[in-house]
Amino acid sequence: MSRYNITLITGDGIGPDLTCSAKTILETINDNSNTKFTIDEVFAGDNAVRKFGKALPDSTVDKIRKSDACLKGPVGESAADVIIVLRRLFDLYANVRPAKSFPNITTSSNNIDLVTVRENTEDLYLGWEFYADENTVISLRLTSERASRRIAEYAFQMSILRNHKRKVVAVHKANVMRKGDGLFARTCKSVAEKYPSIEYSELYVDACAMKLIRNPEEFDVILTTNLFGDILSDEAAQLVGGLGMGPAANIGDDFALFKPVHGAAFDIAGRNIANPSSILLSTKMMLEWLAYKNNDKDALKQGKRIEDSIVGLLKENKKTKDIGGELSTQEFTNLVKYYLY
Ligand code: ATP
Repeated sequence: MSRYNITLITGDGIGPDLTCSAKTILETINDNSNTKFTIDEVFAGDNAVRKFGKALPDSTVDKIRKSDACLKGPVGESAADVIIVLRRLFDLYANVRPAKSFPNITTSSNNIDLVTVRENTEDLYLGWEFYADENTVISLRLTSERASRRIAEYAFQMSILRNHKRKVVAVHKANVMRKGDGLFARTCKSVAEKYPSIEYSELYVDACAMKLIRNPEEFDVILTTNLFGDILSDEAAQLVGGLGMGPAANIGDDFALFKPVHGAAFDIAGRNIANPSSILLSTKMMLEWLAYKNNDKDALKQGKRIEDSIVGLLKENKKTKDIGGELSTQEFTNLVKYYLY
């Protein structure tokens, strides 16, 4: 039997609806399998600013540090003060965002199964912006060989682990950003030489955005920089049914944080209509990561149950509103729970 200590960030907007759903499913797994959880709910985001005057209170960081993994609901206006800081504090350098076709969700292709592996610590996300004068801003973009190499290694390992199409495409804009993306492209290429069994190619980001619309089923692993990965992974999520179906993982060597790809979606907050699949599939990714880290076959099995349960519901056309159904967040969660065991 394994027991994992999970920190749960409730978040803002639809965050409480989604994390309540994830908690229900984790508690169901806890009650029916050998994979057990202690769930510690912590504050971060706009609600923490109101309560503690700080988006990421020290007590939250301390608790996350002591936990095995963190599951995070979306955060509102203060998102950058939470997720970007957590990525830096825990060196969560790989942002992994799968996009897979689901039954009964109408999209351009029924055969999409790709994952975006996005560098998570550099690029424009360091917030190095300066006023040159009142009307001119200079934004600095960081690219290092070290960060490019470790994300490239991660992407190739991911392609091997998936054992799907065994293809990695490095996406950049080295024709314009010759030095920064030139370094990224060169480094990816040199890592590719270590993996002759994986097909390697490169695309400029604009060409990749087009190809994702035209031939999404041709992709396996998309390896890219921070900002391009943010945009391309939202595009990929849209291709398989929208943000409500999009999970994500922020992974480092020792720790990982799991969250939906989308934001707090204030337009639908408090209405019990958000699609919890994004956080439930993130929970599945968390179980997978814990399973590989701890050599825990049962955790892997329980994670798979979450995905199977969601797929089973979609096959029966049981869906939330965003993907053409009628079920509320709570009704969908209860059905996932029912189908789990
Ligand atoms: P951010 O800039 O922080 O990513 P945003 O407000 O621009 O956030 P999102 O919150 O990511 O955008 O979502 C955009 C829209 O997609 C929302 O307004 C909402 O209508 C829809 N949406 C997002 N997540 C879900 C979900 N889980 N279920 C249903 N609809 C969703």
